[in-house]
Amino acid sequence: MKTAEIIAIGTELLTPERVDTNSLLVTEQLNLLGVEVTRKQIIGDDRARLTEAIERAIERSHIVVLIGGLGPTEDDVTRDAAAAALHRKLTLSVEQESVLIQRFRQFNRPMAKNNLRQAYLLDGAEVLPNPNGTAPGQFISTDRGAVALLPGPPRELKPMLIEQLVPKLRYIVPPQIIRVRSFRVTGIGESDLDSLIAPVYSKYSNPVTTVLSSPGDLFVHLRATGQNVEQVDELLREVGNPIAEILEDRAYTEDANETLDMVVGRLLRKSHATVAVAESCTGGLLAARLTDQPGCSDYFQAGYVTYTEEQKSSVLNVPEALIHAHTAVSEPVAAAMAQGARAKARSTYALSVTGFAGPTGGTDFDPIGTVYIGLAGPHPTTVVRIRYGGDRYRTRTMAAQGALDVLRKHLLQHMG
Ligand code: AMP
Ligand code: MG
Repeated sequence: MKTAEIIAIGTELLTPERVDTNSLLVTEQLNLLGVEVTRKQIIGDDRARLTEAIERAIERSHIVVLIGGLGPTEDDVTRDAAAAALHRKLTLSVEQESVLIQRFRQFNRPMAKNNLRQAYLLDGAEVLPNPNGTAPGQFISTDRGAVALLPGPPRELKPMLIEQLVPKLRYIVPPQIIRVRSFRVTGIGESDLDSLIAPVYSKYSNPVTTVLSSPGDLFVHLRATGQNVEQVDELLREVGNPIAEILEDRAYTEDANETLDMVVGRLLRKSHATVAVAESCTGGLLAARLTDQPGCSDYFQAGYVTYTEEQKSSVLNVPEALIHAHTAVSEPVAAAMAQGARAKARSTYALSVTGFAGPTGGTDFDPIGTVYIGLAGPHPTTVVRIRYGGDRYRTRTMAAQGALDVLRKHLLQHMG
């Protein structure tokens, strides 16, 4: 498999103000070609550091893509550094000089002498024309593969990358297919997930398996490469099917772009069911999740944020005596909140959330992070008690996700 490295050049990219977004585009295109990006770096506008970085990169990798630093000023050092690293001379191209002159004439601007720097090409370089700016890109074939110089401004880089660099790279990259199979997983921690599935995937270097996590939401990606679609799909089945079996209903979708609330919405719609929510510690997060998708009025009826005990009673008809007997963070109150919301909204289902998000509150029995999630519906009301770890943000985020998952699992079980 061919490997590539990307070097983004620009001192501004090393400040908190600017992000290197170009390398994501370049990575995407390289991956589509079947090239693995093994390293990316950001180097400031420093000739010596950049020369060294390029020297190292061309030793290690077949393809090296340099982004930025092709401007006309002294701090644009990419051409010089690439020439030094590749031991090639920079020569003024008469042709590029006239392209530049033309361009300045076209825009009725005087051309400063500095701009001529952009007409210098590395010996043996092919020009990648830049219809959106003044600096042409350059493509240099090397023993191992190629080095490309691309301009920094994204609106110049993108068309040059797709229309000019990618077709040239096709000649040096054997045809390869990359396909990804993903699982989105919830209700389990990252290390527990990994110990479940590592025995399967760690036997394979192709597909490459990665596990990514955010609060309450885990991604498993299997990335397979091969010569043709059949071979790649077979690899994804061979490793993905046992993983799917182990994950069972902990995997809520195989569509990497489908969030848990989208899955719940899809299941509600399919069941011709509606939902309402009664929230305490999540303060509306659950309702926000359920209303994130357009068309959610098909299934979402109402959300009640009842933070105080008094509001739980007056809005949701939770008996005051129940709250006094069990406290607001308790199984009976979660059940009563869900039932109250369901009755009030006349929905098929209602979810409730009550818990201690912290950093203060909590009891010996229900320490900070304890959340009760109730589900009322045509079946007997259920309540689960979950203890989340982490800060307030994390507990609230996970509680909203946890409540969605309670409903998802219930819907799956009762859909047959
Ligand atoms: P340069 O080609 O280095 O003169 O870059 C010109 C402009 O392009 C910079 O000021 C940035 O706004 C933008 N730019 C350069 N490199 C990147 C990058 N890697 N990602 C996103 N924008 C970039
Ligand atoms: Mg720059």
